[in-house]
Amino acid sequence: MSRIVYVNGRYLPEHEASVSIFDRGFLFADAIYEVSAVINGKLIDVGAHLARLERSCREIKLELTWSGDELIAIHEELIERNGLVDGGIYLQVTRGAADRNFTFPAQRKPTLVMFTQARSIARKVSRGYTLKSVPDLRWARRDIKSTALLAQVLAKQAAAEAGCDEALMHEDGVVTEGGSSTIWIVKGRSIISRPLSAKVLAGITRQAVLTYVEETGFTFEERAFTLQEALDADEVIITAATAMVMPATEIDGHPIGDGQPGPVALRLRDIYFDLAERGGALG
Ligand code: PLP
Repeated sequence: MSRIVYVNGRYLPEHEASVSIFDRGFLFADAIYEVSAVINGKLIDVGAHLARLERSCREIKLELTWSGDELIAIHEELIERNGLVDGGIYLQVTRGAADRNFTFPAQRKPTLVMFTQARSIARKVSRGYTLKSVPDLRWARRDIKSTALLAQVLAKQAAAEAGCDEALMHEDGVVTEGGSSTIWIVKGRSIISRPLSAKVLAGITRQAVLTYVEETGFTFEERAFTLQEALDADEVIITAATAMVMPATEIDGHPIGDGQPGPVALRLRDIYFDLAERGGALG
């Protein structure tokens, strides 16, 4: 079945949708994106995703010409037209099409593309993710959700070739993030995740989990941690709009803890799904 996608004000069958070869998203990755989860037909934490979109656009001086309400309406319309139950919505805004020139075009006419991706999402997990550690090769502004994702493409491909589910990126032995996820560790009575900075993307799922993390009875500790600490952790946890909350049970072939999905990860995942019924912790 062909999807109905959104391109610059029009809803079209995917094979009829296109953008110019001069689009700056294509030529320069001069573009920002967002991915919001959909569970049981409901958008999760969409307000927070749109707030991050606005921030990313502001940081690269890309003027968004759609209001938050308009963007939410397009999300809802795509869910409706595609009968989406579980999966996500991808949104990409670019600085538009103009003859190739590095500096911004005089005429500001952004391109907006959105489409649905259906995926089966199960509340219960039968096994944890396996991770492959790779050096983080990204640029200095990882807080901007840019479509320049070549480093992550290579990281995740290396993970896939090693038979792993996700890459664990590190800089000189200090963990930054997953290939497309936030990484947390559990040690003793602490749940640890690194502070926000230009070195990492401010995960919306991270923000959501922080609103209820202490319901586990563990204490949140915001600090950087090393790859060795992750290997020695009681649990490693992944969060992202695509993975929700997932236990990770192996790094580079070494089991984490007893090698089984851990109780903290499973509890946080349960709470995530409980809150999904009302649009997520952040709404
Ligand atoms: N970090 C990186 C590098 C990502 O690409 C993503 C998601 O794509 C995340 C973290 C998690 O962010 P979110 O929870 O908003 O999906």
